[in-house]
Amino acid sequence: MNNLIFLDRDGIINEEPSNFGFDYIIDAKFFKFYPRVFSALELLVESNYDIYIISNQAGVGKGVFSQDALDKITEYMLGELSKRNITIKGVRYCTHSSDENCDCRKPKTKLFKDVYADYVGMNKENLFFITDQQRDVEAALNFKIKSILALGGKSKIEDVFSFKSKPDYVAVDLYDAVKNVVLK
Ligand SMILES: [Mg+2]
Ligand SMILES: [Zn+2]
Repeated sequence: MNNLIFLDRDGIINEEPSNFGFDYIIDAKFFKFYPRVFSALELLVESNYDIYIISNQAGVGKGVFSQDALDKITEYMLGELSKRNITIKGVRYCTHSSDENCDCRKPKTKLFKDVYADYVGMNKENLFFITDQQRDVEAALNFKIKSILALGGKSKIEDVFSFKSKPDYVAVDLYDAVKNVVLK
């Protein structure tokens, strides 16, 4: 069985939209890869990781952008990665708005559970979710896996002190998280 890892999308793979004044990435033209993402993902691929992206995109449920727009953004992201021979095993979105009270919106865990169903027997204690925000640290805790908070997206180091639940690790970015925590 391959290794398994979960990654948040906005603030981890691509620049967090609130950092340039948007609530959501509504078009691929606003999808800006962080510079060290490709090297980080290459390291994971070389180490036989199945990479899953787990992302809340409530803007669809709220009607801010369409499912079709989200599909195009995903297509763009995967296309740019595959040019570099990086394969993402799965991209799982919750597109519900918070008032729909679904089972998949992080910090709920359905999106993780659905993936993990194919990896039964894998020790969850060694599984990581790399994210940039507090809500996802909660999700990792709820799913009983480890969290790595990568800074530079939604969270700065000083924000961590006020987190209700603390991440297991803090890293500068995805590359640092992969190189110095996951693969260490
Ligand atoms: Mg994020
Ligand atoms: Zn949902």
